[in-house]
Amino acid sequence: MRVKVDVTETELEGDYKSIDGITVTCTKCGREVEIYGTEEASIKRGCAQLREECGERNFYYYHEEESPRVDPVHTVILAILEWMRSRGYSSPVNPTIGALLEAIEEQARNKQ
Ligand SMILES: [Zn+2]
Repeated sequence: MRVKVDVTETELEGDYKSIDGITVTCTKCGREVEIYGTEEASIKRGCAQLREECGERNFYYYHEEESPRVDPVHTVILAILEWMRSRGYSSPVNPTIGALLEAIEEQARNKQ
């Protein structure tokens, strides 16, 4: 079955100082595991550890759905282009910049 986990940030004891980490909690049985790091990979490690420690063949997940990663830079560029269009700048004064923006926009759309 699919089991959702809860993730809370915590401070874990390191060798010399405390280290940022997370507590990953199984919402089915309440078991908790502590993981160093707060990145996406840390959550994945927590899920893998729960899968072992809960002793059931569950699939642990945190995010409802893995949303496709949208590059923030591309998002900003698309927003700028949108803004320019809404104000009638669809053909920028400088054609080189216009062509450049078009090229970037095409790249950005391909990435999404
Ligand atoms: Zn469990």
